[in-house]
Amino acid sequence: MHTERLYFSDPYLPHFSARVSARKRHGEAHMIALDQSAFYPESGGQPADHGVLNGIPVVDVQSDDGVVWHTLAAPLTDDQVRGEIDWGRRFDHMQQHHGQHLLSAAFEQLSHVQTVSFHLGTASSTVDLATATLPHDQVVAAEDLVNRIIWESRPVLARFVTAEELKTLPLRKPPVVKGPVRIVSVPDFDHSACGGTHPHTTGGVGLLHVRRWERRGETIRVEFLCGARALHDYRHRDGIVTRLATQASVGIDEIEATVERLREAEERSRKQLAKAQQQLIGYEALALIERAHIAGITRVVQHVFDNREMSDIRLLAQHIAENGCVALFGVRNGQRGQVLLASGPNAAVNCNRLLRDTLANFVGRGGGQAILAQGGIPDADRLAEVLDVAFAKIASGEALDLKDAKG
Ligand SMILES: [Zn+2]
Repeated sequence: MHTERLYFSDPYLPHFSARVSARKRHGEAHMIALDQSAFYPESGGQPADHGVLNGIPVVDVQSDDGVVWHTLAAPLTDDQVRGEIDWGRRFDHMQQHHGQHLLSAAFEQLSHVQTVSFHLGTASSTVDLATATLPHDQVVAAEDLVNRIIWESRPVLARFVTAEELKTLPLRKPPVVKGPVRIVSVPDFDHSACGGTHPHTTGGVGLLHVRRWERRGETIRVEFLCGARALHDYRHRDGIVTRLATQASVGIDEIEATVERLREAEERSRKQLAKAQQQLIGYEALALIERAHIAGITRVVQHVFDNREMSDIRLLAQHIAENGCVALFGVRNGQRGQVLLASGPNAAVNCNRLLRDTLANFVGRGGGQAILAQGGIPDADRLAEVLDVAFAKIASGEALDLKDAKG
């Protein structure tokens, strides 16, 4: 049993007739072998063809010991079949695969680096090059050379050669298969041992664009697009750039400068806003100090806020402490309540100790330093009560800590 591979002699053959030579089940999958097939089985980095056999979808194609196995989406009982390749998918693979041959040859000729692997993905393809560095100008030079060879529409020749002839060919890599070796050649440019499908001329690749490259260990992975993929990518990016330019009411060449200006303006606004917020908090602190209460030997500002940023509250408390008062603040954020106590370095109140002593009666936790302490209680409705207790401790002299105070 052996399958004749029709794509070897005619890679453009979109449909064919054949006889079923074997069937098998693999789990739920129905697989059949044919006496001849134009379906390309996955190998050499090129994915399997899809298509139909007597109208039944072919979802995978693999080769095993000279036999091409077609995995079908449903059982097929006929002995004679008409096969049809999903031509769009196949031609896309031909463009990417041949583009890879050209790109690998270009890197070898210009940068003297070898390709160690090739992956043809659903969105883009990659080659891994045996080098740890790849300067930008070498990538551009390789891309230029490949496209020149594409636009010269050189013939792409595929044939099986004898062992003697093989020795005379300057192959990029020694062949890995035994027996007759198939060589895919572009005259005066590249000879590769390959069983894949390729266009009749290099022109079939259309265009090759290297999208990006990055170091991966001791190799560089180069991502590229050929043919229709390159066009679709260009269309997509052109759309993004054009919409950005329209939004900003500038030409596309001015987008970068416009983005830079916007970034700088945003940075300035952010700084101005921060400065204005600081000033505003300064005024808010003064307004609160006007309503301070005397507690024993010190003045105390006591207040419960709703949904305020703790960074603002801390700043406000620091302003108040700098003005010689003690700040007793509660902040209601949803169900939870936060408590922040602040005093100046010369005040006789140890905030850390006052907070711990006070919260002990409210299932709360917290801590900090003598001049600033912060904590929380599970029930925000009790914040006013917490602050009243703290105030009472200051007023009674219980919280006064002359020993700890500086100055
Ligand atoms: Zn190949």
